[in-house]
Amino acid sequence: MDHARGWRPPAGVAAHEFLAQLVEQLPHPIFVKDREFRYVLMNDALVRMSGQPVAAMLGKTDYDFLSKERSDFYRAKDVEVFSSAAEVAILEEELIDGAGRQRVLSTRKVPLRDAAGEITHLIGIISDITDLKAVQEALRNSSDQLEERVADRTRALALAQDDLVRKERLAVLGRLAGGVAHQIRNPLGAIKNAAYVLRRRVGEVEPSAFAETAAEEVSHSLEIIHDEVQRANKIITDLLDYARVRVPVRRITSVADVIDDALRAHDVPSTIRIERIVHDVPNVAVDADQLAGALFNVLHNAFEAMPNGGTLTIEATVRDASIVVSIGDTGTGMPASVRARLFEPLVTTKALGLGLGLVTARTLVEGQGGSIRCVSSDHRGTRFELTVPSA
Ligand code: ADP
Ligand code: MG
Repeated sequence: MDHARGWRPPAGVAAHEFLAQLVEQLPHPIFVKDREFRYVLMNDALVRMSGQPVAAMLGKTDYDFLSKERSDFYRAKDVEVFSSAAEVAILEEELIDGAGRQRVLSTRKVPLRDAAGEITHLIGIISDITDLKAVQEALRNSSDQLEERVADRTRALALAQDDLVRKERLAVLGRLAGGVAHQIRNPLGAIKNAAYVLRRRVGEVEPSAFAETAAEEVSHSLEIIHDEVQRANKIITDLLDYARVRVPVRRITSVADVIDDALRAHDVPSTIRIERIVHDVPNVAVDADQLAGALFNVLHNAFEAMPNGGTLTIEATVRDASIVVSIGDTGTGMPASVRARLFEPLVTTKALGLGLGLVTARTLVEGQGGSIRCVSSDHRGTRFELTVPSA
């Protein structure tokens, strides 16, 4: 086997001298082992890295100066080089170098053949990839951080977007509701007045001039008109409440007073027991009417959820810098599908419901810097929590 060599020693320098210098001064740690796995060559970089005296390594195997575990590992690789007659790599390996520094190394072991082509040795060439790993790690960290920040921003944007869409939808609905309610309130007023006049007139008619059954029928019909007008009016009031939430006027207010206002506004059925617990809570700076309005809507739902009676528990407590009013009922609870969309307009399970009570409550409470949520709801009942910052 004859091939041109790509090197030539300078004039006056012996070839072996030139090669020895080259190997010695290569910046990569290099070693050569014979077929008995004994070190027969270590360059300067290798000796410095290993921190072992040359005498401890030269002519010795790994087992003479390394741990059994590490030696086993290297031996397996060496055997593989000889048996496969091909390159074997240790892509990444951590160790403490002769100076006590943590290093990351990458080693390639290749067979070395003699002139006859026989594999007589293996050469190990080590690359110190410590800095590379550090850079990689830093890059990975910063890209992780970047991803996290992008994810954070995306989440915040999605929330802001949802909020905008919700507010816009509420505003449109509010304008529509307000307009319709206003238009209907006038004819309703006229009907109510007409019914009133009719009722008076019927009272004036001589009883004999009216067949008794007819009289009964007429007054029954008038009653129906009266009740239905009343009901329609209630719906219109709800719509208008929803449509025109005014800017809150905040005053220092006692929470107990707000609770009592909201309770007093209801005709509580006698089958419902009320437990009112107001701990020693500080005053709040809120629009009392609006907060009572919100509470009214939540209480209204609670009463409606207990058609056969039950217990309503309303309790005010301090939590962190806030006052929490908890409203619990022992009613029917609600389906999960309703709970998921509780504060959206027009979500209702009631034949005559509008599905505006809780949206209105939420708008009112959030206008005071507070919040409202449904804490639990199952067959044993439902609990809402209304939170407002303390004054
Ligand atoms: P509406 O009372 O007109 O239906 P709301 O916005 O006040 O509208 O309530 C929406 C829905 O939420 C109700 O229809 C009901 O299904 C459910 N809900 C609210 N509060 C309760 C409660 N305390 N118990 C059971 N279901 C409730
Ligand atoms: Mg309601």
